[in-house]
This record gives sequence, structure tokens and C-alpha cells, in this order.
Amino acid sequence: MQCFRSVVRLPADLLCPERCAACDALVHPTDLLCAACLTATRRLGPPECPGCGAPRPTDARCGACARPDAAIRTARAWAAYDGAAGPSPVARAIARLKYRGARRLGRRFATVLTSRISAADVALVVPVPLHPRRLRARGFNQSAVVARHLARSLDRPIGLTAVVRIRDTPSQVGTAAVATRSANVAGAFTVPRPPAVRGRPILLVDDVWTSGATVRAVARCLREAGATAVDVITIARVL
Ligand SMILES: [Zn+2]
Ligand SMILES: [Zn+2]
Repeated sequence: MQCFRSVVRLPADLLCPERCAACDALVHPTDLLCAACLTATRRLGPPECPGCGAPRPTDARCGACARPDAAIRTARAWAAYDGAAGPSPVARAIARLKYRGARRLGRRFATVLTSRISAADVALVVPVPLHPRRLRARGFNQSAVVARHLARSLDRPIGLTAVVRIRDTPSQVGTAAVATRSANVAGAFTVPRPPAVRGRPILLVDDVWTSGATVRAVARCLREAGATAVDVITIARVL
């Protein structure tokens, strides 16, 4: 749709509506989802485990995150990945971003994520990287698309190559056991220039938290390279 906002000063949503990222209904240009899809979305928030974002009766760390050597300081997600019956609106929206190349959605995804981020805790925004081969095949990294918009709205630098994936790993989809997932990603990442992350708190961005194995491996890598803390933000979380 043509946008004449700069010529005729009318409310932007009258002239430049966007489509709901899940169902294509017309929405205000800054909204990710329409009202119906938002209602069908289980948004996450406290009380939750600070280490993995799992909903909890209190804000205490869960058993898996209570280890003193945990690499992740906090992990938060905007919404639950699974719907009550079939794919949730947020799962459909992520599939559009990832597989249908709807890069324009990046800005609106970043907008919903900012409510779950404390900007004061962030010195550098880093996306979970794809292996170069997968990046070439897909043409873009969906987490980097969102991270770029987040960095802009937080007014922080982005480290697109602060962490790189040196070993391709099997798709995590369908790999249920956490131990298997952790073994798959062990040694898959490296920080090529440690001074770029040393002494800085990092915001690590990914699309979906499944078992947490991938972000834990990246976070460990960043901490070993000298990052002072790693906070994780994902669009959705498998519960
Ligand atoms: Zn919708
Ligand atoms: Zn936890």
C-alpha cells in the first residue's frame, strides 16, 4: 500500500496499516498482532525463574538454573510458543519471519520485546548466529533481524559477528532430550575477538527458547571470552 503520510498529515494507521503477523488482519503499524491473536497469545512475565524464564509460583530460580556456574544471568521470553490447540499466533508469526523471509516483521517483534528488557543492563546486543552454510541457504538470520531493531531502539551497538557458529548442528526440532541437545551444541560456537565482549554485559537474542541448550552454549562462550553477564531475550518460549 502506498503511504502518503509525509504529504497528508493524518494518523499513520489510517493510511499505512500493517497486517497482523499471524493472520493478516489489518493492524496499527506498530502492532505485531491483531486484537484476536493477541488475546489468543499467552504472554509471559513474573513470577518466573530468572535463569530460564519458566513460569513459577515465585521469582526463585528453578532447580536447573540454581547451579552457581550458570552462564545466563536472566532469560526472558515475550510469549508461550505453543497454543492451546495447535500453533499459537506467535508461532505462526515466527514461522513467517523465519521461513517466508518476512524481514519487515523484525521491527514489530523488537517493539514487543522491549517491554521485557532493562536497557540499563545492556552494553552490546548479540544475535544467536546461524552456521554460514545455513545463512547462505536462508539468506538471512532471523535472530539478527530482530536484534538489529532491538539494538536501535535500545541505542546500543550490535555485535553481529561477536559470536560465530563454527560447527553446524542438527535441527533442534524433534530433539526432545535436553542432554542430546546440549551435546549437539557443545563446541559449536566461538568468540573470534574476545576484546569485543570483554567487560561488557551482553543481551543475547534468539527467536525461540526450546530447551535452552543453544543459548546456554552461546552464553558460556561469551562468559569465557570475558563478558560480565549474559541476559537472554527470546520472542517465544516452549513451556
Ligand atoms: Zn491476527
Ligand atoms: Zn530456570
